[in-house]
Amino acid sequence: MPAKVNEEVCIGCGACVGTCPMEAIELNDENHAAVNEEVCIACGACVGACPMGAIELSD
Ligand code: SF4
Ligand code: SF4
Repeated sequence: MPAKVNEEVCIGCGACVGTCPMEAIELNDENHAAVNEEVCIACGACVGACPMGAIELSD
């Protein structure tokens, strides 16, 4: 159940990137957060860090 970013809501602020203990998030070429699903452990840290509510854990 990796984290999922709603790219229509993400403003590319980068706040989530630094909170991820697995370094699973990068900003992509479109300046949206992108989660490496192979690395994400679904800890939820990024969810709380996002000021836009753009990240949720998928089910
Ligand atoms: S849920 Fe945790 S491990 Fe997954 S991207 Fe967010 S902060 Fe990183
Ligand atoms: S914290 Fe939210 S708005 Fe900022 S880059 Fe991450 S997903 Fe996008």
